[in-house]
Amino acid sequence: MRITPSRLLRIPEPFRASRSKLISTALRRGLRKRCPHCGEGRLFSGWSHLERCSICGLIYGRNPGDTWAFTIIGDRLPLAAMIVLIYFGVVRSHRILGLTMLVVLAALVVWTAPNRWGAGIALHYLSRVYWPDPADLIPPPPATALAGDAER
Ligand SMILES: [Zn+2]
Repeated sequence: MRITPSRLLRIPEPFRASRSKLISTALRRGLRKRCPHCGEGRLFSGWSHLERCSICGLIYGRNPGDTWAFTIIGDRLPLAAMIVLIYFGVVRSHRILGLTMLVVLAALVVWTAPNRWGAGIALHYLSRVYWPDPADLIPPPPATALAGDAER
């Protein structure tokens, strides 16, 4: 993809040289349930989504359903693993092992839901950085957040 000057302005300064660093940093922040842009603000309050970052002001989903596709993919992967266990007869042939694996997977589906949703929000953020909409203003990240993140 050609990076035009207007696109370059959307990419936070420390990541302009390396696309893979921006992608891995945003995804890591999303998995940690933090703002993919600044890495500081929280994505959730308990089990509910926050509308915007309290630190940098990034609006996580400009329109309702923006992160829907990414969230669905993240939710379907563990469910697909459970279906594979049942389909290939693991539950039938090894009853205790199969049921234990199903219970563990079900617990993981619930337990990791906010992390997977955070990764979905991060993927949506990356799509906004790489395919910008002029009406979508991504705020500049606070300098302290960038300095702190670069050290990790
Ligand atoms: Zn933020």
